[in-house]
Order: sequence, then C-alpha cells, then structure tokens
Amino acid sequence: MTMRILLVEDDPVLGAVLRRGLQEDGYAVDLATSVADGRDHLAINEYDAAVLDLGLPDGDGSVLCRWVRERQLPTAVLILTARDSLSDKVAGLDGGADDYLIKPFDYPELAARVRAVMRRPRNTVPTVLQAGDIRLDPATHTVWRGAIVLPLTAREFALLHHLMLHAGAVVTRTELLEHVWDAHYEGTSNVVDVHIANLRRKLDLPGSPAPLETVRGVGFRLGETS
Ligand code: CA
Repeated sequence: MTMRILLVEDDPVLGAVLRRGLQEDGYAVDLATSVADGRDHLAINEYDAAVLDLGLPDGDGSVLCRWVRERQLPTAVLILTARDSLSDKVAGLDGGADDYLIKPFDYPELAARVRAVMRRPRNTVPTVLQAGDIRLDPATHTVWRGAIVLPLTAREFALLHHLMLHAGAVVTRTELLEHVWDAHYEGTSNVVDVHIANLRRKLDLPGSPAPLETVRGVGFRLGETS
C-alpha cells in the first residue's frame, strides 16, 4: 500500500525538492504551503506522516502538529526547523511531534527520519476517553457519568474533551480559551468560568465526589473520580 505524506513547506525550491525526493521513494505526496492549506489537507485525507515546516506565512507549523494530536489522527509528525528557533519551538511542542530535523539538512537524512517515524507504532489513544466514572466518546459526542448520559452543549463538550485529554493535570484558563474557543478570542477569560460552572453542575452527582476541581489562580483539573 502506498504511504501518503503531507509536506507543508512554503519555500518553493525546498518544497519542490522534497516532494520530488519523497515521490521517487514511492510515497504519495501532497504539498501545502501554509497552515490553512495544511489544515485543509489534513481534514480531507488520512496521512501516514506529515512533514511540517515551522515558519509558515500564516503562522507556525506546530499548530498543525497540535491539530493532528488533538484529533488523535494516526499521522506521524516530523518537524523541520531552523537551529535558532529549536529550543522554544520544539520544547513548545509538548512532545506532540515524533521527531524534528534541523535545517539545512540533506534529503537522505529526511528520508531516513520519515521511514523511522512511520515504523514507530502510533500511541493509539482509546476512542472513548475515561476519567473515573466519566466517559466521553468523541465520535458520537456522548458523555456518560456512570450509566447516565449527560446533556452537554457543544462548548461544554469541547471543554470536557480537553480536560479529559489532560486528566489529572492542571489546565489553565488561557489554554482552554485557545483550544476551546480560538486563539483570536478577544473576550475575557471569565467566559471560561461561566462554562466551567455549567459543566460542573452537569457533572456533579449527589453523593459522589466532585470530579472537576478549581486550582485557585491557575486553572482546573479533572481528577480521577470513582
Ligand atoms: Ca518557511
């Protein structure tokens, strides 16, 4: 079966060279030249690997890496980066990328890295997320507490989804604003508290410990409930 690769690179010369190389190695290659273009491709096709340049005209390629991971796509991610942006960029990937390659590089090195990341078994996240007795199915947008189906709004669902992906960890208001609203949301972070309060009301069951904890001055943590 032909392996399919998405290459996101805005440098026309480098993009053309890498695409030709990968095609000659037998991959099916789609070339995108911006974050928006890359996202369109990822939304339509399933890729075995994505090779992402970080410096793109409309943003940072790491956004696409996060996008892939949040949707739990079975796509290996290889980041291309200049040395001077290595520490802040790659450190900021939260381990979402499988590997990175520092520019400039030779094509054979890229090809070897691509083969390596695609051989690695993907960390498959179970389709239905679970934290204590709360279960969330992203495919059907259903949430249960025990055997009870909880009627959540789309926003509450997105909030809970993000908290469940990071169960046990503190998630800040800023992070929730960026992931559940969008990076350009200009309202106050108060909106997070309003929706969290609504979510909490629906999650809490009489006689059970409250699953969603406020960490004062920091954010929220979805604990292990039982
Ligand atoms: Ca670039």
